[in-house]
Amino acid sequence: MRIQICVVVLISLLSLGCTSTSGPRLRSAQLQANYPNLLDKSFTDRVGMIPSVLLDDLKSMDSHSNYLPHELSLDERALFENTFVQLPDFLKEPLQAEVFDIYFVENFSGGGMTYFIWKDGKPKYILIFNPKTFHQTLSEWLTYRDNTAFDSSNSQFSLRETESGNHIGFLHTLVHESCHVYDFVHGVWKNQASVLPESDFPVRSKLSFYDVESTAKVPITDFVSEFDLFTKAGFASIYGSWNSLDDFAENETYVLLDKKYMAKLTLEIEKDNMLVKSYVSSNSPVVLGRNSEFMEINSKK
Ligand SMILES: [Zn+2]
Repeated sequence: MRIQICVVVLISLLSLGCTSTSGPRLRSAQLQANYPNLLDKSFTDRVGMIPSVLLDDLKSMDSHSNYLPHELSLDERALFENTFVQLPDFLKEPLQAEVFDIYFVENFSGGGMTYFIWKDGKPKYILIFNPKTFHQTLSEWLTYRDNTAFDSSNSQFSLRETESGNHIGFLHTLVHESCHVYDFVHGVWKNQASVLPESDFPVRSKLSFYDVESTAKVPITDFVSEFDLFTKAGFASIYGSWNSLDDFAENETYVLLDKKYMAKLTLEIEKDNMLVKSYVSSNSPVVLGRNSEFMEINSKK
């Protein structure tokens, strides 16, 4: 049952991924590509240099020609290993059991991506990460991400995410992609259902992130005018409102960052450098209630 649900989800994503880059940063690898099976190695030893067939597919999917293979420095490898070690066991286990290969790509649009391949009729996963997230703080990275959706030129408003601790951006990236793998393995979502009307806000359907689409950015003033609708909707982040898969990943990531890592994130809007609105999603009863529902669904599987 679990795998059946998972396959249905993946097939629907495959068709989505072939026609548009909107939605989750996830795509099926070409079936004929021969990716190394590194499942017998420890998770952090599955890092390799990305095969050209996969790099070319990423370039074409995102229309970015400047993606480059990246070899981890000693410092980056230490950060990677330390961040993995600190993951909760329920996220570590599906990574160890299901992720074939891990690649780092310079200039990648976004923090990371979960790619899937078929092995003996079952999905397995390849993780792509942006090494830049090792060198930015959590606050810097999420502020950058959120602002890729908006046009703030000629506006008095600016948007940022602040953090209560001093973590690196890669912490969010690894937890977020781990949540995707966990979601696919455990089948939390049955399909990519549309957002319920009571949880929607009008600019949501116009958002796109990381400059991987040609759609125009949303004027930040439009989002500011819908900020209260957004905070009542139950999304952990603006990015999480993009699609159901990232909704789950962001909900779990923001709650975990707060409760496990003491990294409470605050979305802030400033007007003429004065704070005018803020939202701590990990304090929101709606977000926490939805987090409990996600976990309750999983505990029954
Ligand atoms: Zn995602």
